[in-house]
Amino acid sequence: MTAPIHNKSVVSAARVTDSLEKPALDDRSYRVILLPNQLEVLLIHDPKTDKASAALDVNVGSYSDAEDMPGLAHAVEHMLFMGTEKFPSENEYNQYLSTHNGYSNAFTAATSTNFYFEVAASAHTPSNSKASSQIDVSKTTNDSILYGALDRFAQFFVKPLFLEDTLKKELRSVDSENKKNLQSDTWRLHQLSQSVSNKKHPYNHFSTGNWKTLHDNPLSKGVDLRARFMDFYEKHYSANRMKLVVLGRESLDELESWTVELFSDVPNKNLQQNRWDDIPLFEENGSFMQLFAKPVADVRTLSFFFPYPDETDMWDCHPSHYLSHLIGHEGPGSVLAYLKEKGWADSLSCGSLPLCPGAAYFDIRVTLTAEGLIQYQEIAKVIFQYIALLREGTPQEWVFEELKNVGEVEFRFKQNSSASKTASRLSGMMQRPYPRDELLSAPVTTRVFSPAKIQEGLEYLRPDNVRITVVSQNYPGTWDKKEAWYGTEYSYQPWPKDFKKMIIDAAGARSADRPSQLHLPHKNEFIPTRLDVEKKEVLTPAIAPKLIRNDQYVRIWYKKDDQFWVPKANVKITLRTPLSSITPRCSAISKLYCSLVQDSLNEYSYDAEIAGLEYSLSQNGLGLQIIISGYNDKMAVLLEKVLHSMRELNVKEDRFDIIKERAQRVYKNWHFKQPFHQVGTYKSWLTQDRSFIVDELANELQNITVEDIRAFYPQLLKQLHIEVLAHGNLSKEDARNITDLVETILKPKGLPSAQWPMRRTLVIPPGSNYLYERTLADPENVNHCIEYVLPIGDDQDRNLRAKTLLAASIGEEPCYDQLRTKEQLGYVVFSGAVIPVTHLCYRILVQSEKSPDYLEGRIEAFLVQLGEQIRDMDENKFEKHKAGLCSKISEKPKNLKDESIQLMSYILAETFAFDSAETDVAEVMKLTKADIVDFYNSYLSPASKTRSKLSIHLLAQATPASIAAHMTPEEQLDKTVALIVQLFQSNMPVDADKLKARFAKVDLSGGDSDAVLGAVGTYLREDAGLPQEDVQGILEQGKLAIGSVLASVGIESKTETPATTDVIPVAAKATTITDVHEFRASLQASLGLRPVRDISEYEDIESKL
Ligand SMILES: [Zn+2]
Repeated sequence: MTAPIHNKSVVSAARVTDSLEKPALDDRSYRVILLPNQLEVLLIHDPKTDKASAALDVNVGSYSDAEDMPGLAHAVEHMLFMGTEKFPSENEYNQYLSTHNGYSNAFTAATSTNFYFEVAASAHTPSNSKASSQIDVSKTTNDSILYGALDRFAQFFVKPLFLEDTLKKELRSVDSENKKNLQSDTWRLHQLSQSVSNKKHPYNHFSTGNWKTLHDNPLSKGVDLRARFMDFYEKHYSANRMKLVVLGRESLDELESWTVELFSDVPNKNLQQNRWDDIPLFEENGSFMQLFAKPVADVRTLSFFFPYPDETDMWDCHPSHYLSHLIGHEGPGSVLAYLKEKGWADSLSCGSLPLCPGAAYFDIRVTLTAEGLIQYQEIAKVIFQYIALLREGTPQEWVFEELKNVGEVEFRFKQNSSASKTASRLSGMMQRPYPRDELLSAPVTTRVFSPAKIQEGLEYLRPDNVRITVVSQNYPGTWDKKEAWYGTEYSYQPWPKDFKKMIIDAAGARSADRPSQLHLPHKNEFIPTRLDVEKKEVLTPAIAPKLIRNDQYVRIWYKKDDQFWVPKANVKITLRTPLSSITPRCSAISKLYCSLVQDSLNEYSYDAEIAGLEYSLSQNGLGLQIIISGYNDKMAVLLEKVLHSMRELNVKEDRFDIIKERAQRVYKNWHFKQPFHQVGTYKSWLTQDRSFIVDELANELQNITVEDIRAFYPQLLKQLHIEVLAHGNLSKEDARNITDLVETILKPKGLPSAQWPMRRTLVIPPGSNYLYERTLADPENVNHCIEYVLPIGDDQDRNLRAKTLLAASIGEEPCYDQLRTKEQLGYVVFSGAVIPVTHLCYRILVQSEKSPDYLEGRIEAFLVQLGEQIRDMDENKFEKHKAGLCSKISEKPKNLKDESIQLMSYILAETFAFDSAETDVAEVMKLTKADIVDFYNSYLSPASKTRSKLSIHLLAQATPASIAAHMTPEEQLDKTVALIVQLFQSNMPVDADKLKARFAKVDLSGGDSDAVLGAVGTYLREDAGLPQEDVQGILEQGKLAIGSVLASVGIESKTETPATTDVIPVAAKATTITDVHEFRASLQASLGLRPVRDISEYEDIESKL
């Protein structure tokens, strides 16, 4: 079916190319066209994709922000999506996408703004014929889904409205985004590097913007915000600066005709490319400088920032790849190997990073041990000595050939990534000057050896062209400056004289003056040579692996790849033992052991890693897990080495101290993660058998000695059950041989199945209502977090599972729309079904500056509203939701890795429900609206007598009480008045003194928001002379804002008014959990995990000789 082509004068596009060089196994087809308005488009026809997508990249970003409005480009990115002339409703686009199992996103970078969406490629064809006879799903949502989405999407670039009444909400969202980043060291340190750079280069700017830069400051200067946003759009958005990618199942011709029809109206202003050539990144006296910065988390790094040429035009020889490969090497002879031997560093990374057309920098980053921090000057010396070594000889062609080979192999066997990732990434790549037939290959391959250009690049790595940054919480201990946007404490000073001399000497060091341990790497033996794939045509790929061995020692799951045809494999080995997680102490020792094994292998395994073969070793609730993935050619060689290291680990005291200290910091820093990343751990701790929190592990870690590791790990390996998943380009024989390696090297006694660790969930009984509160450790963090969990029941009840999935799917968009878009509670709002181990739950998670009690009220109000939406939903819309969910459930894995992860999840879950998607779809298709209404009434409705609930509140410290402690009542009043004045600012002028006078009788500290609103009302009527009905309207709006106004002066509002006018059922008072042990003891454990069918059904065991 073809979507209607509007009757329009016929325009056609110029064909740029339709022969793109592509990976060997890529069955997509590609075409590049140029529309008459100079908009360049890449069309991708993917006959098998289950998602369609489009992305548009505009060559303008934060570097084009006006001086007086940092964050302008970012704000425009947010505003653009709020209604268009053709589709004026603000959430039309998102509603359309979400009904069709899609979503959208956008980001603003330095010189580009990237917008993209993903939707179902076509409707799911129901496998259950009885259900499908009720409604013809294929009619309601067919191929035109993409057309509909493109139509809405294109209008943002044709005729956006910048709706006035969405403006503040979006600026709030930008502000909330910035607040989310405020305590993030990544953002803080990035901004610091920008802030100390040349003021004349846009790198210096604050890129995200906040309420102050985008609202308060411009308004105080009388700026018309909306006009400024539209101005920016008019000035910078032009078809010739846009690159569009459209990916779908439709033919290239069809995609082309849609694109021509929908995007030819994007205005072309023939703007030039945004470039910043020849503006230095450093201030005039910016050489020989060092920067000391204090981080939020306990991290220690030393980094080197070298201004470096923009290599975008040198895409065929990428000189910096050669340099970063050698400086960043981790094998014998490398800088890192030497620094680790000295006990100074944990890791080193480097590379050149483009900033914008015309500017780039080369970055070297070392994470330091405690000793390394003291020795940071010595480390700088070693790095410059290694650079001297590179400068001494000429660039080596064999090193280049290795890099070239790795790049070619990587490209040749590159697998598809998701539709939206592909579209978004390629639209960005199209801004670069790659020849269009090499658009896919040029970014990953380096084909021309250019020793002259490599030497030119090397010339930039000089002592007088670098800024050194030391990040540490305790060195130097005092910092005399504060960065303006994030408040990072820092100091910035010239290098001491003797340090300067030492580095200049190091950069010119002769071979005899350098440590003999530094040399070029050896030839890499891990580069794969056997790349053949045995391809057999199969009609439908098998969904389950075969069980090719099953006894008391070993279970081998084997699946030969039957759909991706890459010379790669993923082998996942579970070494089952209860010992590794029986107590927090055992768990902490096991984790340390895994880190020590990996540390001992680092130099060896690095070659494998760059050749595309990686491994990991970790501890989990089942025991230990080894994962090896990548090219299968040399997999066994690497595995054998890993196993030997595990068995014969020689625990060295000095490495133990370093690894233990690192683990201690990881635990400490956990508390500085975003609250929404922390909350899940408390949930597991409360409701899972044998689940520990970070503090328990950290306490045990303190007393663990090197002797403990030496004594414990042989016990850990003594008795194990081995479960292997071998998936990919492997034969049965390979799978057996790999398993034999594990058995013969580790030589464990078998662990009988009756002794396997059993995982259960603690069941929160129906009708209960629990609350767990905890104060967050970071004193500066202002964000609270709530996870509101409604446990449902056993995940193996397939009908209940289907209802949970469907109800959660129906609730997703309304939840986001109400709590995030409309109420602006915070940047992080999630809702959905989650299944911790055995038990289904529905949860809503919000991170916000508002108190968790308030959030709880808002969530309850939303749930009431959701109930109405479900009851009022018409059958057609209900069926669309079912179809959307089914298409999501049936999404196929995109590559070998995705499939391995899926297979492994069913194996680790011990349910072996490989056909889970099919079962879910069949169950969902059976559901009626009445089923979901019933489900809602018993499990989700706040009025339900039988629902169970656990709410976890994480409280920020920097909130009401602590804020109030720093303020006098007079200051609180002044700030409250100022904030209210601000709220009115864009609508009407407010006389602050008169307003303040109306507060004379209000007891602010009591948090009586009705009294506050009363005072505002009196002012509006008496002083501003507004008619009563207007005042009423304003106060209705004010109710929503007053809680946050009072919160920001440290007062908790007592009367919070819900956004809906419905009566909110008063939730039964929650039982606060004070003693976690007692709470857990009061709950019954769920059933354990059971296979959904007898696993002998999967057996394919040949008789043994
Ligand atoms: Zn944003």
